[in-house]
Amino acid sequence: MLILDIAVPCPLRRSFDYLPPENATTIQAGMRVLVPFGNRRLVAVVLGTKQHSQIAGNKLKAAVSVLDTEPTLSPDLLALGRWAANYYHHPIGEVLQQMLPVRLRRENPPREQVELAYSVTDSGREALATDLLKRAKKQAALLSWLSHQESASRNTLKQNGYDYPVIKALLDKGYIAASRHTAKPVAATAAKTLNQEQLLAVNAITEASKQFQPFLLQGVTGSGKTEVYLQAIEHCAQSGRQALVLVPEIGLTPQTLRRFEARFPGQVCVLHSGLADGERLTDWQRAARGDCAVLIGTRSAVFAPFRALGLIIIDEEHDPSYKQQDGFRYSARDIAVKRAADHRCPVVLGSATPSLESLHNVNTGKYHRLQLTQRAGGASAPTIKLLDIRNSDLNNGLAPQSMDAIADTLARGEQALVFLNRRGYSPLLQCHACGWVGQCDHCDVSLTVHFGRRQLRCHHCDAYKPLPDSCPSCKNHSLTYKGPGTERLEQTLKTTFINTQVIRIDRDTTSGKGAMRDMVNAVNEGKPCILVGTQMLAKGHHFPLVTLVIMLDIDGGLFSPDFRGAERAGQLLTQVAGRAGRAQRKGTVLIQTHAPDHPILGTLVRQDYDPFAEQLLAEREQLGLPPCSHTAVIRAEANSLEACDNFLQAVRRGTGMPGNDAQFIGPLPAPIARKANRYRCSLILLAEQRKQLHTLLNRARAAAEPLKPGFALRWTIDVDPLEWF
Ligand code: ADP
Ligand code: ZN
Ligand code: ZN
Repeated sequence: MLILDIAVPCPLRRSFDYLPPENATTIQAGMRVLVPFGNRRLVAVVLGTKQHSQIAGNKLKAAVSVLDTEPTLSPDLLALGRWAANYYHHPIGEVLQQMLPVRLRRENPPREQVELAYSVTDSGREALATDLLKRAKKQAALLSWLSHQESASRNTLKQNGYDYPVIKALLDKGYIAASRHTAKPVAATAAKTLNQEQLLAVNAITEASKQFQPFLLQGVTGSGKTEVYLQAIEHCAQSGRQALVLVPEIGLTPQTLRRFEARFPGQVCVLHSGLADGERLTDWQRAARGDCAVLIGTRSAVFAPFRALGLIIIDEEHDPSYKQQDGFRYSARDIAVKRAADHRCPVVLGSATPSLESLHNVNTGKYHRLQLTQRAGGASAPTIKLLDIRNSDLNNGLAPQSMDAIADTLARGEQALVFLNRRGYSPLLQCHACGWVGQCDHCDVSLTVHFGRRQLRCHHCDAYKPLPDSCPSCKNHSLTYKGPGTERLEQTLKTTFINTQVIRIDRDTTSGKGAMRDMVNAVNEGKPCILVGTQMLAKGHHFPLVTLVIMLDIDGGLFSPDFRGAERAGQLLTQVAGRAGRAQRKGTVLIQTHAPDHPILGTLVRQDYDPFAEQLLAEREQLGLPPCSHTAVIRAEANSLEACDNFLQAVRRGTGMPGNDAQFIGPLPAPIARKANRYRCSLILLAEQRKQLHTLLNRARAAAEPLKPGFALRWTIDVDPLEWF
């Protein structure tokens, strides 16, 4: 009897046996099938077939139908999925489901996605000539624009601001016609002549083209990493193979895309969460057919199919957005390296501020380091100074020296950037009379004042309340704002520098469509201005006229309870500092701190990122922390701290002694123990060897799974976590 071994998307860490559907012809591993599961029908993936089942034949259910004629997940992707499920101790059904584009997770077979191109018809030209559309301004605009093109795809139209209803109206009138879109080859932009270091890097990567070799490409922003990627991809494409390029969420800007598209016209596929499901499926299928030279995407693109994968690039490899923070908690960077090993191809990890993991891999000889030390275009590194603000008379967080420096910068006709990683007006509202503090009803945190919206908002759950005029407790009018956020800084700077434009860039001001683009354009017009913002400013954007960067309050990162706090603070500082003096003029960075003698801060400022990172690595080695050891966290979340603690204590007991060179820490309550009315605790596992860690995790799972703590408690496993809580 033929039995199907099937990965069903459900939280159980196992696969399920089913009988083949009636009158099914061929069934292969990697095909999608529809199966009955409980009282539902789910789209699942065939892992393989077998002859025997533990379950009696008459108890086995039959699959409803086979949804594919060929495997949707190729053998290599299926193997990768199995590996990832094992490594991250996550249910195989959920892992495989996440590897599929959303459209393929549904029962209804998707039609093949055809991208349409639109062109103006004869009657359309006539309508234009006779001004027939004068009452339909949008339609007239589209028609006129399109009449200057041979044709344009729906995507191109969308990028130019023409939405589908307008297209539809013109189609219905017969003024435009649709046909199958074929990417027309545009003349590719020429590759640049590489400098010595770039040449060395490209050669090293191409020489390794048929073998597994990880490279760390280390170079400050603007040192020409992207150019190295582009030329390495060109070599890869010439040998008939495809390249996968991963970028952090915030890094997939239209500029980046245009740059790739200009070099490889019609040969670039894109996968990211901002695309419609249909668009994602189209590019997924194109890559699988081998119908593109490059696929660029964010985290989940690491699971994209390829006909012939020959190179993987991970830009800004240190970026935390590569790690999925809920559900299937995989690291796209680490899976990319594993994938390169499977495909025996080179993988390039690029960064100005590499993760300690990658630097450790360089030190142990696993990764080969390639360095770009010069900034392209002759820009020089900025001068970094620490500003001791102890006892300083701060104006809403800004030291007098900072204010002077801003004034000087503006007087020179240049631009200044003030960085504070805290949005809102003020992180704390307090009553000066009775001590009342605005706190979230659902989390153990204080509420942030959002002045413009007249609200108190929680940054950990979605709760908010109206901003009170008087103290809710004693009714006095003695409410005070403690400390600044970006909104308050903006206001302070506006009142101090009255005739200067102050542009705030944070999550609150950039949520509107196109808002970020408009602000970036405003800055790049070149008038003297002040930028205020959170870490959104640290990434990707090029502000050539910014010559002064002021950083407020980075002490929080240095003294963070998390083991990666200092690493993150250093990366952020280096990235933000890199915003200063990108073009011809030299930049200055002022760091306001209460800890000017902090040894790590000193190293970073006086020497550079590398000695700083080496110092942190030595510290991690001494403390037995990653990357010098391996770690995982079992987290529990429930309605009470006690329930979490009891559960994790039981898991710890059930797991038994960790053995030599391994240890448990906890269970410990999270620093913010309650979020959205749920309490959270962590049980931390540390082991010198990765194998030990997995053995321990298997034992912990075996201990946890039978505990059945009830619906109110949820527990998860996080392997190689970014944070412990
Ligand atoms: P990164 O990716 O490290 O930020 P880029 O590759 O974007 O650096 O390079 C920064 C700028 O320098 C870009 O405008 C790029 O076109 C230019 N550039 C890079 N390499 C060269 C080169 N070899 N010759 C001339 N210009 C270059
Ligand atoms: Zn009060
Ligand atoms: Zn809250």
